[in-house]
Amino acid sequence: MASKNRCPACGSSQVRVTYPPDCLYENSGLTGVHLVGKGVAETACAACGDVTTTVLQEAQLQQVLGMAIVLGGAGITGEQLRYLRKLFDLTQDELAQAIGKGRRETVAEWESREQARLFRVPYDELGLRVVLISLFHARIMQSEFCCLSSRHRSAFDHAAGAFVEQAASFARQANCKTPVLRVRRQGPLADWAPAPGIAG
Ligand SMILES: [Zn+2]
Repeated sequence: MASKNRCPACGSSQVRVTYPPDCLYENSGLTGVHLVGKGVAETACAACGDVTTTVLQEAQLQQVLGMAIVLGGAGITGEQLRYLRKLFDLTQDELAQAIGKGRRETVAEWESREQARLFRVPYDELGLRVVLISLFHARIMQSEFCCLSSRHRSAFDHAAGAFVEQAASFARQANCKTPVLRVRRQGPLADWAPAPGIAG
């Protein structure tokens, strides 16, 4: 088994391993992904002069990036959608079926928008995001390809469950003619807080 303290090119052990503190992860196909800390090893060989850069635990990194996208704030972009589709090992056709668009061309057109947001209105994105969360769960969390730790998995379950619940309640309230919001302040020094029983 290859040691990380041997030169991948010549096998020499005269190597120096350093960890560049901030690397752009361009192989991901995503713009502006910075890998910081000790996730990238740079092996410089004194024998042959070879310098090799290795992203450590890359499969887990890719799944964690996917998780950050599906659970992230509004504004999913074309390149993020393409990243997720590849992570889920789906064709454009299969993804189109999964999100109820039916036509491969819709997904192809979305992906071609690269860094542009797919939806100008964040609310329009909710349905897509719910589907992406469930695909993530089906393809990553429950497959033999899962590289996430139990801590990752419970954080995902918690955040995804809360998101799906909120989205469902948001969708129910969207049709309401006279929405009522209750906010309460418990006492003279208390903070305002949403009160339970928000009427729809
Ligand atoms: Zn070498």
